[in-house]
Amino acid sequence: MQEKGNISIHTENIFPIIKKFLYSDHEIFLRELVSNAVDATQKVKRLSSLGEFKGELGDLMVEVSFDKEKKTLTISDHGIGMTAEEIKKYINQVAFSGATEFMEKFKEAKDANEIIGKFGLGFYSAFMVAHKVELNTLSYQEGAQPARWTCDGSTEFEITDGDRTTRGTDIILHINEDSEEFLDEHKLRGILDKYCRFLPVPIKFGTKTEREPDGEDEEGKPKYKEITVDDIINNTTPIWTKSPSELTDEDYLNFYRELYPMSEEPLFWIHLNVDYPFNLTGVLYFPKVKNEFEIQRNKIKLFSRQVFITDEVKDIVPEFLMLLHGVIDSPDIPLNVSRSFLQADGNVKKINNYITKKVGDKLSELFKADRKAYEEKWPDIGLFVKYGMITEEKFHDKAKDFVLLPNVKKEYFTLNEYKDKVGELQTDKDGNVIYLYSNDAAKQHTFIAAAERKDYDVLEMNHPIDTHFIAQLEQKLEKTQLKRVDADIIDNLIPKEITVESVLSEDQSKEVKELFEKAINKTTMNVDVIGLNPEELPVTVTMDEFMRRMKDMAKTGGGG
Ligand code: ADP
Ligand code: MG
Repeated sequence: MQEKGNISIHTENIFPIIKKFLYSDHEIFLRELVSNAVDATQKVKRLSSLGEFKGELGDLMVEVSFDKEKKTLTISDHGIGMTAEEIKKYINQVAFSGATEFMEKFKEAKDANEIIGKFGLGFYSAFMVAHKVELNTLSYQEGAQPARWTCDGSTEFEITDGDRTTRGTDIILHINEDSEEFLDEHKLRGILDKYCRFLPVPIKFGTKTEREPDGEDEEGKPKYKEITVDDIINNTTPIWTKSPSELTDEDYLNFYRELYPMSEEPLFWIHLNVDYPFNLTGVLYFPKVKNEFEIQRNKIKLFSRQVFITDEVKDIVPEFLMLLHGVIDSPDIPLNVSRSFLQADGNVKKINNYITKKVGDKLSELFKADRKAYEEKWPDIGLFVKYGMITEEKFHDKAKDFVLLPNVKKEYFTLNEYKDKVGELQTDKDGNVIYLYSNDAAKQHTFIAAAERKDYDVLEMNHPIDTHFIAQLEQKLEKTQLKRVDADIIDNLIPKEITVESVLSEDQSKEVKELFEKAINKTTMNVDVIGLNPEELPVTVTMDEFMRRMKDMAKTGGGG
């Protein structure tokens, strides 16, 4: 059999165009060809389980190999294979119509990575690195004849008899001169590791030696021999494909180590698993981070059916969740469209909301299950929760029940608990509730002590994000103001009703106050008589914050 043909397409030669648009990301050809091989393997498995393929499945491994001398790179599978008719249908027509559509719609497109797979162009990405591609295949169908297809990157193809004797397909790329980097073991391994590390079918790339126990020597010590085994580069069942009930904490931690070998252990994780109205699985980890400078963003990897797509998940997860680590796998995230489309996409929005909800649920669950453990984690998760509350209304509504406010005594309160604690005691003359906070307990300790003497509680808000968080609290809490402890504030605090017996009568206090004022003889100073017990300062003299600043300025600016 021999057949030559011409692919009908309005463009004389599509390949220069593919190359031009896809220039930035040549390496994805390997992802595309290996995923095709994996798809073909999964298909034959499915046909077998449906009883439509009755033969032996045999070894289903996909193999990637190269020959530096012949300048070829081969991807072989034991999948369903293709008949000559199918080659014409799937490789010639479908791919080319996909290509036409691609060219019409995405002349301006920049990100090849996103486009190529979805337009039935995956196979043709081979021409980014090869001047000639051969396909040697034998279909699983009974009585099928092996077929060979070759194409040199023009619109002409050739189909002849093939010579494959076992079911499946070899794709042989004759690597072009500019792309010889893809005939390098290290380079190929790196690409496979990036994109194919969690594909569901074993992928062999070369061999490796392993030590195997081999009896004992004369002294009874164990002996080993070196054996050569296939080097399988992937983990075919990463944990996100399993059910949470099958997994232990150790499994989750091991997977985290596999993804981020250098990182500290995560605090906790969330297993995502939904199949309606969209399909999504994944595991998100809360990293241990104390400040935003340490945080590494873009640590979430996006997969589509276990094929790595990108670690740019900006438009798929809410901004504040970008701080998380882990994987998301969804075949329902459109990868072939522009960013603005992605933001408007219904599925993406739903996914976004789903993840936000899951994260909120998890935090709420942790909070309810073990308050003490939750408080201990707070220094690590507080930043994240506040960030989420500030940036996501939906998350705010959930998180208001488990966000914690620590005071300077390191006691933790929920918003409601804190309202109950101070709401009636700390008010100003207009009836506003006053929450005091310190952003530097060491520097502000005199004010904190003064506030505490008036029985005011002082919150600790010493993180940069707290500025925004405080503004949000003021907006959300009714008739409540948050004020930083300083001299001005202290003077205006209305002390809580004194319950302890005073050693001085009201008249005596007034007398002492006047006495002090007279002695100091400065209107810029405030005198307060508190002294109820001998441990406390009986009288404090404070200076107006404004006056104090003026004085400081005069001292430094005036030059004596
Ligand atoms: P897509 O994978 O998106 O369908 P491709 O251009 O990657 O587009 O592949 C086109 C078609 O060629 C596939 O849908 C499949 O029918 C066929 N094909 C490609 N590679 C193989 C293979 N290794 N084994 C069997 N069929 C294949
Ligand atoms: Mg494909």
